[in-house]
Amino acid sequence: MASTGPQQSSSSLKRRDSTVTRESDLLTITPLGAGSEVGRSCVFMTFKGKTVMFDCGIHPAFSGMAALPYFDEIDPSTIDVLLITHFHLDHAASLPYFLEKTTFKGRVFMTHATKAIYKLLLSDYVKVSKVSVEDMLFDEQDILRSMDKIEVIDFHQTLEVNGIRFWCYTAGHVLGAAMFMVDIAGVRVLYTGDYSREEDRHLRAAELPQFSPDICIIESTYGVQLHQSRHIREKRFTDVIHTTISQGGRVLIPAFALGRAQELLLILDEYWSNHPELHNVPIYYASPLAKRCMAVYQTYINSMNERIRTQFANSNPFDFKHISPLKSIEEFNDVGPSVVMASPGSLQSGLSRQLFDKWCAEKKNACVIPGYVVEGTLAKMIINEPKEVTLMNGLTAPLNMQVHYISFSAHADCAQTTTFLEELMPPNIILVHGEANEMGRLKQKLVSFFVDRNIKIFTPKNCQAVEMQFNSEKMAKTIGRLGEREPESGENVSGVLVRKGFSYQIIAPDDLHVFSQLSTANITQRITIPYSGAFGVIKHRLKQIYESVSESVIPTESESVIPSESELGIPALVVHGKVTVRRESERHLAVEWVADPIGDMVSDSVVALVLNAGREMVKVVVEAEEVVDEVEEGRKREKIVHALLLSLFGNVKYGDDGRLVVRVDENVAYLDKKNGEVESENEGLKERVKVAFRRIQTAVKPIPVSES
Ligand SMILES: [Zn+2]
Ligand SMILES: [Zn+2]
Repeated sequence: MASTGPQQSSSSLKRRDSTVTRESDLLTITPLGAGSEVGRSCVFMTFKGKTVMFDCGIHPAFSGMAALPYFDEIDPSTIDVLLITHFHLDHAASLPYFLEKTTFKGRVFMTHATKAIYKLLLSDYVKVSKVSVEDMLFDEQDILRSMDKIEVIDFHQTLEVNGIRFWCYTAGHVLGAAMFMVDIAGVRVLYTGDYSREEDRHLRAAELPQFSPDICIIESTYGVQLHQSRHIREKRFTDVIHTTISQGGRVLIPAFALGRAQELLLILDEYWSNHPELHNVPIYYASPLAKRCMAVYQTYINSMNERIRTQFANSNPFDFKHISPLKSIEEFNDVGPSVVMASPGSLQSGLSRQLFDKWCAEKKNACVIPGYVVEGTLAKMIINEPKEVTLMNGLTAPLNMQVHYISFSAHADCAQTTTFLEELMPPNIILVHGEANEMGRLKQKLVSFFVDRNIKIFTPKNCQAVEMQFNSEKMAKTIGRLGEREPESGENVSGVLVRKGFSYQIIAPDDLHVFSQLSTANITQRITIPYSGAFGVIKHRLKQIYESVSESVIPTESESVIPSESELGIPALVVHGKVTVRRESERHLAVEWVADPIGDMVSDSVVALVLNAGREMVKVVVEAEEVVDEVEEGRKREKIVHALLLSLFGNVKYGDDGRLVVRVDENVAYLDKKNGEVESENEGLKERVKVAFRRIQTAVKPIPVSES
């Protein structure tokens, strides 16, 4: 499997689609979102007439149609499979729109946990994003309808849709997050989505796939940055909170309702348990869906790591002792120090924004940004500590509260990315999900790291296609009894070739029902030809042409063991051990054979011979075999050859130069019968005519009866 001449191009995908042949070796990968940016993850891939799309997110910094990936660039109806890696909005939130409001009619897959949380999170998103009606991409009903269309996949389960095989691995990052490996015609593409190789309080680390992909599409969120150790991050986090509340301040932690929030709540609950002096300070988990989110998390304890499952054996770690849910700001009695984790993480709207507007002017308060924040959002803006901020009501206010950025987001850092790629060694790497500068720095770093290896690294922008050629060789595997012994070099292996999608298998006919839903069958062909001449003439003619003509007597149709006088059988001739010719009635002969390429060819010539003999009957004199006119015999043979070619190719005529002209569709071949030379512009037809003629020649040539 070799890849050659990859290149980036930006011509429209729609136009290219129509010109690329379906079975082409060209593989194209185009980000429709998350190309040199973070947000609206969506990667479109086509190969061998198959189309896969990875993720379907929105850009959290935009609203309405502007938040969508560039769906206009593609024809959604051509997509076979859509794979969603995890429930985060930037990976899944345009799904209701895409499923309900475009021509997409393919199949969509995600893990069980992702599906459950997707529903909750998007309901939350619809509720908190207070956008105008025309900016609403979808509503609650669309989310519900999309649920019926989403199919689930287990980690390590292999599925196949339209010849596209795919399976997924644990990606760390958030509950249910998956990395997808897709195999089309033996070419493998790994799409990591967001992943983390570090185990935390509740999640397993991302797995290392056991197969190296040909292409790895990988996130580059953190560029060349290195994470602080988990221990240090946690200490900074709890220190900031402890200091703020002991000075009478309030702590706001804007976070997605689900995902990293659960990890932070585990840290806070544990910290409070160890610090009884803090028990009078309330911690709130403020999201309209807080309670239901917790219930979902408890359901999926089994897909989390060893640590949390051990804890669960004693008591449910998500049944927090020091954290109370908070549904809305109206329920909140804001009288003294408190810690509130509120959604959304972007601070663009909703509860977290209401609290931010309320607290931002006070110096003793603190805001802890606990993870990656997208360019263009308020959360990103305040990290740079501007003097003033614009409130939701349009007024400006001084930003006096302390802003801390302590990243808990479970994305791979530079060290993890490099190690991961070093172990996988994919010949092609495509960076996505990274701000352009970060991505550029990571690319440089990887280029110098892999300088001696033949690895190509791409950083396409949105709608910019990466094209690669994969010259896939056709390979068939022998299975069952054929696979028991390794054939010698040059040895022929014979069996039934079974094609399923892009995979080929050679199976012994007897094994067919074991390894496939197919079975073998023999077709007995029978044809009745008008002939009222003597049976001996036919026998004579056949013996002239065929080396092997044996006489036998076949019983009549009666199956009685002892035949009666009248049923004593009819003389029959068996040609080549395959085709039986017998008298059926005064005026008819029957030709019978089991269908196979040789039997079919022999029977064709027998039929032609009988028909000719019938026409020339009057002239035929049955006498000693030796009296045979050479010229006459040659002429007849030629007729048979012509008749056989006619039966194979349909349109066969004599040309002016004496050659036979064979026409199939638009193609023409010229056959010189003297030497078997064939001339044709179509190589395939040329070969077919050549082979057919050679076989016919061997079938009709008289074989010398004896040498003596
Ligand atoms: Zn994510
Ligand atoms: Zn993401």
